[in-house]
Amino acid sequence: MTAKMRAMVMDKPGTPLVMRDGPLPDVARGEILVAVSACGVCRTDLHVVDGELPHPKLPIVPGHEIVGRVAAIGPDVGGLATGERVGVPWLGATCGVCAYCRSGAENLCDAPVFTGYTRDGGYATHAVADARYCFPLGESGDDAEIAPWLCAGLIGWRSYRMAGEGRSLGLYGFGAAAHILAQVAHWQGRRIYAFTRKGDTAAQDFARSLGAVWAGGSDEMPPEPLDAAIIFAPVGALVPAALKVVKKGGRVVCGGIHMSDIPSFPYSLLWEERHVMSVANLTREDAREFLAIAPEAGVACEVTRYPLERANEALSDLRDGRLQGAAVLVP
Ligand SMILES: [Zn+2]
Ligand SMILES: [Zn+2]
Repeated sequence: MTAKMRAMVMDKPGTPLVMRDGPLPDVARGEILVAVSACGVCRTDLHVVDGELPHPKLPIVPGHEIVGRVAAIGPDVGGLATGERVGVPWLGATCGVCAYCRSGAENLCDAPVFTGYTRDGGYATHAVADARYCFPLGESGDDAEIAPWLCAGLIGWRSYRMAGEGRSLGLYGFGAAAHILAQVAHWQGRRIYAFTRKGDTAAQDFARSLGAVWAGGSDEMPPEPLDAAIIFAPVGALVPAALKVVKKGGRVVCGGIHMSDIPSFPYSLLWEERHVMSVANLTREDAREFLAIAPEAGVACEVTRYPLERANEALSDLRDGRLQGAAVLVP
């Protein structure tokens, strides 16, 4: 009997994922087959299934926070062994030759491949990946608890680096990425201010339990002006709100791939050398840095596990803000 795989597949944006069986895919030159043990559910997956990101590969298997074990190795793959635990992130491959790739900005590559968006991802029992963009994860830590590191952690880390070295940092939207960064920031002795939906006292308590010195609604002013703020919630109105709470020269970093329109705001909010910037994707260097720091900082993800076939439910829970921490699918 030929070996089979199962996957939750999206045929068309705006429709629920459906479970499909199929033969195990072949691995081409430079690729590995990963037997998935856990795949985190990221807000970007919601933007893919809701049709907010253009031109996904169709049909597509979403999921780009993959933890699994190498099940097969294609020709010309170095440095990975069968059975080894690896992580597969959002950045699936880059061209290696464009001006961005050649200048250390492969996150901005002109011809990138994204896991779970332009190539099949990890809402499945198996996934094929370009070995050069996978990361060995060692053996410590639980697969499901590490899965959110692969995007919430990596792109969160890039956003955190972009926010600068200031001691006080605001986080808007206390989901998977913020709950990881709060732990890193606390470990580094920075002061975290968590902004949640108005009245979401559960999320505010959660933020304080992870070391936030203050937590409140996104319409509130923190007790001190902040050095920087990162916005993870896909809500454009948070940009002027965050500009109001950062001090002169402060930075507002938009960490998501999609956001509703930003309302117009008075120039005085931007004046005095405040910056607004966005973070796109990740580089492999971001990943190597974060994957070294996370265990040292003792980052522990709070996860809600869903069997693979309940992927639609996990997505709805994320969409409706019913989750604390991160959702993870387990095949
Ligand atoms: Zn490139
Ligand atoms: Zn993601």
